[in-house]
Amino acid sequence: MTERIDGHTTLIGLMAYPIRHSMSPTMHNNAFAKLGLNYAYLAFDVTSDRLPKAIDAIRTLDMRGSNISMPNKQKVIPLLDKLDPAAKMVGAVNTIVNDNGILTGYTTDGIGFMKSLDDEDVNIRGQKMTLAGAGGAGTAIAIQAALDGVKDISIFNAKDQSWENAKRNVDIINEKTDCKATLHSIEDKEDFKNEIADSFIYCDSTGVGMKPLEDMTLVEDPSWFRPDMVVFDTVYAPRTTKLMKVAEQAGVKHVFNGLGMMLEQGAAAFKLWTGKEMPVEYIHDILFADEK
Ligand code: NAD
Repeated sequence: MTERIDGHTTLIGLMAYPIRHSMSPTMHNNAFAKLGLNYAYLAFDVTSDRLPKAIDAIRTLDMRGSNISMPNKQKVIPLLDKLDPAAKMVGAVNTIVNDNGILTGYTTDGIGFMKSLDDEDVNIRGQKMTLAGAGGAGTAIAIQAALDGVKDISIFNAKDQSWENAKRNVDIINEKTDCKATLHSIEDKEDFKNEIADSFIYCDSTGVGMKPLEDMTLVEDPSWFRPDMVVFDTVYAPRTTKLMKVAEQAGVKHVFNGLGMMLEQGAAAFKLWTGKEMPVEYIHDILFADEK
């Protein structure tokens, strides 16, 4: 690392709170080193009250940009100069690019979801998706999938604080894309089962199944799945969630956790800053060396 940093090194940040646990600095700094790019990526604890000054520092210090995570993904929007159309539709930003003082906000989670499927030669464009969850991840996935040509999305959500957001997502998709979106209550199990039966892909973006809820899944009965469908869980800790085990019991061929999505959302941000492809497999092996 020290060999790489000199008077010309350009800084890229990660602004969130809490953030010290993040894998992103390891991901990006190793990718810069591998490709011989003169950037450094650092995480900064930035609470919402300090966000305006932190964003201004991107301009002042001529940083190339920043990642943004909770609690700042929505709050950052009024502080930027431009928004990518997908970020505008999602209503959240996880990546900022600084072009000579002009800050543009992007969202790469949905891109990461679609790219991770492309990496596995799974094409969901023109198909129907049933999606559980309409929080941060679910919103990004639904909107990017709709923009990329998924034909039909049935969104299932709990009647909690994200129900209004789920309604908003459905309205935006129906208004701005060729995809047909509908909203359903996750309490209606018969409807849930029927919509999954009619879908090419079922995606769970609720976090149910993530540690410490690893014994839980919204779909417990393998007969809800078909072997020829795709089952995707945005969770990646544990690597094999309860949902994925149920899908495997059903003989589902394409069962994925959120690891590919996580790597590809980082790769999409990397490309926005550097114009280069992140060496994703190399980075995967560094981040998860202990699993070999
Ligand atoms: P969030 O809090 O914004 O949204 C959670 C959603 O799940 C809401 O729609 C909520 O209604 C629903 N939900 C929560 N508990 C539920 C339950 N018991 N039953 C039914 N619905 C329930 O969270 P988020 O930021 O969208 O993250 C969700 C999951 O996605 C987390 O596990 C997170 O780690 C994962 N994630 C993965 C990636 C990736 O790159 N793989 C990226 C972002 C988030």
